[in-house]
Amino acid sequence: MQADTEAIWLDAQAVEACVASHRTEDPALIREIIAKGKELHGLTLEDVAALLAISSEELREELFEAARKVKEDIYGKRIVLFAPLYFSNLCSNECLYCAFRKSNREVTRKALNMEEIAAETRILLRQGHKRLLLVAGEAYPGSGIQYVLDAIDTVYSVHENGSNIRRVNVNLAPLSVEDYRLLKEHNIGTFQLFQETYHRPTYASMHLSGPKKDFDWRASCFDRAMLAGIDDVGMGLLYGLYDWKFETLAMMAHIHHLEERFGVGCHTISVPRIEPAVGSDVASTPPHALADNDFLVLIATLRLAVPYTGIILSTRENAATRSKALELGVSQISAGSRTNPGGYTDDERFEAAQFQLGDHRSLAEVIADLGSHGYIPSFCTGCYRLGRTGKDFMDLAKPGLIKRKCGPNALSTFEEYLLDYATPEARRAGEQAIEAELGRMDDKVRAISERLLAKVRDGQRDVYC
Ligand code: SAM
Ligand code: SF4
Repeated sequence: MQADTEAIWLDAQAVEACVASHRTEDPALIREIIAKGKELHGLTLEDVAALLAISSEELREELFEAARKVKEDIYGKRIVLFAPLYFSNLCSNECLYCAFRKSNREVTRKALNMEEIAAETRILLRQGHKRLLLVAGEAYPGSGIQYVLDAIDTVYSVHENGSNIRRVNVNLAPLSVEDYRLLKEHNIGTFQLFQETYHRPTYASMHLSGPKKDFDWRASCFDRAMLAGIDDVGMGLLYGLYDWKFETLAMMAHIHHLEERFGVGCHTISVPRIEPAVGSDVASTPPHALADNDFLVLIATLRLAVPYTGIILSTRENAATRSKALELGVSQISAGSRTNPGGYTDDERFEAAQFQLGDHRSLAEVIADLGSHGYIPSFCTGCYRLGRTGKDFMDLAKPGLIKRKCGPNALSTFEEYLLDYATPEARRAGEQAIEAELGRMDDKVRAISERLLAKVRDGQRDVYC
């Protein structure tokens, strides 16, 4: 068997057995694991299984308390913001939960040309975005991967009022090592891909035709990405297709496999739950819908299990769930999103959207809301620009040193936003939040932050450490 084309690390029987051995909560064991989680060294598969079995209010609160502490220790008040840019909804697959699937006639098909991609980018830049996630269905027009590479180059090439996109992440179908090398040469940040489900029978029943039918090609995609030198990879799965405990443990096994083989696991984890999608019955009634309470236990458990891995929540979740999830572990969110190609340019046209959004707020509204809950929005791209990716990032993160970079960079990028895009009222609130954050920093980090802030206030842009 080949790790580069097959999921040799996935032992479904062992994962099922692990879930089965933790059917009911074991308070003594759970408290032991929570204490271990607070030490920030991560958790084993067995530990995770035990935490996911929590059912009592009391233990749930203890888990949440620990997750809040880990979140605060590692990420402080920072929340990284990004916007998705859907550039094509052409697709050759039949994923039953997705509006973009090939046979769905209820969606208007559109692959943006480079002028249109530039126009979308300009709109996002005018709102203040600096980090984009490019998303497409699996059927690229014309020359295939070249279309994707051109889209990445186009986004990076746009300059609007002295600003540009500084990090392009992608969410695309799995690629060959050669194609990953091309993505790397075109300076992508994170390569993100969701396995959807790690349960082979469910996978087979949800993906009826097209290249995505091949479970192993998808589940081995990060091995190939890493072989090609892409060391920031973003995992995820679509919660609601199969039992959330099995899925989470299988994803943990996937992370451990990458750690063993490449010395680094994943940079981010995304936790989408299935949302209603035009023309999809599965999306309206997910076979294993994940309840809100379990969703929060999941996020808190992941926070303890992989403390240095970013957790991403998208606009799919409504504002109330988002705010609880932020407390417990989420470190990145999308804001002001449209999920149809051309959706930023043509704000009224929703019929081509991938799924219904739970949160319709603009970037400015999300920032105001984050501020009112004491968070500092960050548009930082410093690590990626300085080559602090993959293992280099984790080597700084694990001894707790990354905070000394992220803290100042969050403040400098937030200050840029306040000066260039915010209303006078939002600016006043933001400046107060920055002052409060400076007050929480130790002398050394505060001095670095003040230096960066002075540069931004002096008119410099894109300053980071
Ligand atoms: N086509 C590529 C693929 O499938 O990997 C990338 C783009 S696809 C639009 C990105 C992700 O959207 C999928 O991996 C899937 O998890 C998610 N998605 C599809 N339908 C969804 C739905 N109804 N609700 C929430 N997320 C959905
Ligand atoms: Fe296509 Fe991706 Fe949607 Fe599947 S999830 S139909 S591959 S866009």
